[in-house]
Amino acid sequence: MGEKTVFKKIIDREIPAKIVYEDEHCLVFEDIHPAAPTHLVVIPKREIASVDEVTEADETMMGHLFTVIRGIAAQRGLKDGYRVVTNCGRDAGQEVMHLHFHLLAGRRFGWPPG
Ligand code: AMP
Repeated sequence: MGEKTVFKKIIDREIPAKIVYEDEHCLVFEDIHPAAPTHLVVIPKREIASVDEVTEADETMMGHLFTVIRGIAAQRGLKDGYRVVTNCGRDAGQEVMHLHFHLLAGRRFGWPPG
């Protein structure tokens, strides 16, 4: 096993984070460098590096992440919309090699993304 990722350290409570939701399968916390008024990071507790490593065994958990995202959006009243993003690999700009979804809201986003 290599070094723990920063997100694994957050799961293991070795470094602090502003955790806003947690259950058996996932953790949601505030992004340390917010790119929008709402910027949350949604991660599975299972160590999966990126979408590239998702397998059929993860299908239920992956669906669960999206019901958690939908629930947070509803609870926070993100009625004007929100964006869910996952960066996979170098060209997409993935920095942390632990699968995560960015949940962004509170401003108008451009398309196509940069
Ligand atoms: P990505 O480029 O998709 O891998 O995004 C990684 C995200 O993790 C970036 O938006 C960072 O700001 C965020 N991040 C990195 N370290 C931390 C941390 N310790 N706590 C919260 N968010 C973090």
